[in-house]
Amino acid sequence: MLNIVLFGKPGAGKGTQAEFLKSKYQLVHLSTGDLFRKNISEKTQLGLLAQSYMDKGDLVPDQVTIDMLEAAVKEHPQAKGFIFDGFPRTKAQAEALDAFLEKQIMMIKATIALEADDSLLVERLLERGKTSGRSDDQDVQKITNRFQEYDQKTAPVKKYYQSQKKFYSINGIGTIPEITQRLSAMIETL
Ligand code: AMP
Repeated sequence: MLNIVLFGKPGAGKGTQAEFLKSKYQLVHLSTGDLFRKNISEKTQLGLLAQSYMDKGDLVPDQVTIDMLEAAVKEHPQAKGFIFDGFPRTKAQAEALDAFLEKQIMMIKATIALEADDSLLVERLLERGKTSGRSDDQDVQKITNRFQEYDQKTAPVKKYYQSQKKFYSINGIGTIPEITQRLSAMIETL
């Protein structure tokens, strides 16, 4: 199985690239952000809970996020592999993911980070906000808070995977096909 974590700050291009990689390698793409937004649009209890955090650009608490992700993985027993996009975002989530995958006799093969400067990321998010309808992409203060959450809570996840020798970085600046090409070249070496 090919299980990959796509890592990077908001706006790094994880979702865009996951769409290409999922068809190229026949993987299931699981984005916790998308799963939360689906719950919000369906007005589920989980959606209501998540919305209060997402609206501010805060991370949703670990346990609800982990439970949702595990349920989503279990929905795909025949999967050839998964692309985890936007998860794990804390060290506790990374540990929970490893423990869960081990129980399913699965493991993370690689965590690949898409790197780009903050100023470019803010530009991309504001541009996306014009069409995505996402309020967290339209407000510089919310974007700044998402970056702070990343620096405080998500950055340690890099060390976690580095200590397992599973962490790789890709230059996330360029055209979408250029970046897909870099990612594919990296994946083929795994
Ligand atoms: P994204 O679509 O990945 O940018 O995520 C949008 C928002 O969903 C984030 O700002 C968080 O509020 C929430 N979220 C998504 N994934 C996670 C996660 N793994 N842990 C906690 N909150 C998350």
